[in-house]
Amino acid sequence: MRILLVEDEKNMASAIASVLAKNNYTVDLAHDGEYGLDCALSGIYDIIILDIMLPKKSGLEVLKSLRKEEILVPILLLTAKGETEDKVMGLDFGADDYLSKPFKTDELLARLRALARRRGDIIAENTHFFGDLSLNPHTLFLSCGKESFTLTLKESQLIDLLIEAKGNIISKNTIIEKIWGFESEAEDSHVEVYVSFLRKKLKAMGAQTVIRTIRGLGYCLQHLED
Ligand code: CA
Repeated sequence: MRILLVEDEKNMASAIASVLAKNNYTVDLAHDGEYGLDCALSGIYDIIILDIMLPKKSGLEVLKSLRKEEILVPILLLTAKGETEDKVMGLDFGADDYLSKPFKTDELLARLRALARRRGDIIAENTHFFGDLSLNPHTLFLSCGKESFTLTLKESQLIDLLIEAKGNIISKNTIIEKIWGFESEAEDSHVEVYVSFLRKKLKAMGAQTVIRTIRGLGYCLQHLED
């Protein structure tokens, strides 16, 4: 579990960080909202602990920007005395939980365990399956057994269309419309290029699911063991 801790009070931040490290969490620190947002946008964190009163950008602004970018990572807000309104606003903006300062270590750890479970649910709710493949279109993570790839956005959109079609054929025109848009200059050859990228990745993962070309019609997924 990798945690981002955004907290400007340095003593507080290092005290929390050492408790988390002792409990086998990997922790990165940010001491202001701007840097915290930059780190959080990387999408590499499993949980974010976010103080509300921060220099450069408040915790609430950071939270709003993250949710706008559809970064779904669970967020625990840290609130000080008298920040009740901010706390309510934070939950409205999509924070998952809050903890009022000062708090006990056990309480923090219990909240983090609950958020880790919540993270598991978020991933499960947003994962699409076909044959031996699973795709999370939010993280662009395609996996097959123990093998996985982080796809590019277009690759992820393409394999997601095929997964959603559940083995039915999708035409190149439909693919172009849905991924590149009606007005785009994209041609059949664009689709062919992305199909070949995906085929290489499926092969590298040893997937039993293949992308079949149906001449004159389009593409479909087929699980070879069916
Ligand atoms: Ca603060």
